[in-house]
Amino acid sequence: MRRESWKTVIEPFKIRSVEPLGFTDRPEREKALSRAGYNLFKVPAEKVLIDLLTDSGTCAMSMEQWAGMMRGDVSYASSRSYYVFERVVKDLTGYPHVIPVHQGRAGERLVFSFLGGPGKVFLSNMFFDTTRANIEATGAEALDLPADKAFFHGDRRAFKGDIDLAKLEQALRLRAGRVPLVLLTVTNNSLGGQPVSLRNIRDASRLCARHKVPLLLDAARFAENAYLIKARERGQAERTVRSIVREMFGYAQGCLMSGKKDALVNMGGFLAFKDKAWAGKAREILILGEGFPTYGGLTGRDLEAMARGIEEVLDEQYLRYRIRSVEYLARGLRRQGIPLIEPPGGHAVYVDAARFLPHIPAERFPGQALACALYLEAGIRAVEIGSLMFGKREGRRFLPARMELLRLALPRRVYTQAHADFIIEVFGSLARKKRAIRGLRLLKAPRFLPHFTARLAPLRS
Ligand SMILES: *Cc1c(COP(=O)(O)O)cnc(C)c1O
Repeated sequence: MRRESWKTVIEPFKIRSVEPLGFTDRPEREKALSRAGYNLFKVPAEKVLIDLLTDSGTCAMSMEQWAGMMRGDVSYASSRSYYVFERVVKDLTGYPHVIPVHQGRAGERLVFSFLGGPGKVFLSNMFFDTTRANIEATGAEALDLPADKAFFHGDRRAFKGDIDLAKLEQALRLRAGRVPLVLLTVTNNSLGGQPVSLRNIRDASRLCARHKVPLLLDAARFAENAYLIKARERGQAERTVRSIVREMFGYAQGCLMSGKKDALVNMGGFLAFKDKAWAGKAREILILGEGFPTYGGLTGRDLEAMARGIEEVLDEQYLRYRIRSVEYLARGLRRQGIPLIEPPGGHAVYVDAARFLPHIPAERFPGQALACALYLEAGIRAVEIGSLMFGKREGRRFLPARMELLRLALPRRVYTQAHADFIIEVFGSLARKKRAIRGLRLLKAPRFLPHFTARLAPLRS
């Protein structure tokens, strides 16, 4: 289809099913937040006006996906819906062995249970929090090797999600024999949703091949990454997103996928491998916990919805709108003087809370303090990605995270431009009174994934 040259990028859908927003007043929000122990995960969703906590499992499904759900075959084994799903994933990735799982981390648990263990080291551009937790739970080590450019937040370089190839080579040499796989997270969620360039994937793949270590993709946002390659990488503008996606997967030996992101479903995921032996091992463990290998913790209905979602996410009208809505929000916030990770990535805008709230030190959780202030101000919920999520507590010692961020994740096909305008207005208001935002202290946190259940309290002064 020929692209016409209108400047306004519109939502490429119309809305036929609506859900009311949760309006509250400030005293209600104060009460809800205090009851939740200053942890937004525990605030009831009904008391949230605009929910930017995550883009995971929060998308709106299309009419084709709902139609697919009605057609879903729920046969226990070898259902028709499994074969529909398998065909779509094989076409997408080129990998012959496809294993559905109920969400991304279920796949992580399978893979790391047969590849992990004490003494093993996994390497990545940056592990997502559940991925790291699943590796560490086996006694293995998870080592992040992000490119240095990722840490110059204001600097608008294009592919800050890249893995550092020199560090990768060194790690592969120094830890020879102990690295079961290298995992590239595309886009790099924990580092600002920044894309990984096609060139970096290719070079990492060659390095891994030379060291005989398999490369896998954590492909949760493969389509957003591919679109950003098309938009930003030299020589890629004329290609279709689908062909870029095929090339990305072609450099790897398999993938872990959370369908709750770019497969446009509310629940689901899969593993796909070139290697038959890995698939066999994963399926053995799958049966113990997730179910028979043709449904993996999902129903035939879910598999149909995921199959259609994977097709729809490659629609370039959709991707153009998707990336533009992130840019639109970022531009508005920038105009209010809010420091961001630049350039904005694929699925979220990341506010640099350390720079926005320099009066709050890392051990007082500036990202979380900003999340609480944003909720109190107008019922907007976002998530801290900083020392609450990644800080290390060893006895009385506290090791802060490398960054103190607040992530505003955009659910797919859910909010409109007017919602973005509202968020921008609220940030403008916060910016004017930011000196009054106070830090928090941690009352209680579990060992794994502390941010989900931690309790905190505001500081008095
Ligand atoms: C969400 C996510 C996961 C985990 O997937 P779940 O479906 O939430 O279990 C893994 N990796 C990345 C990059 C993710 O964004």
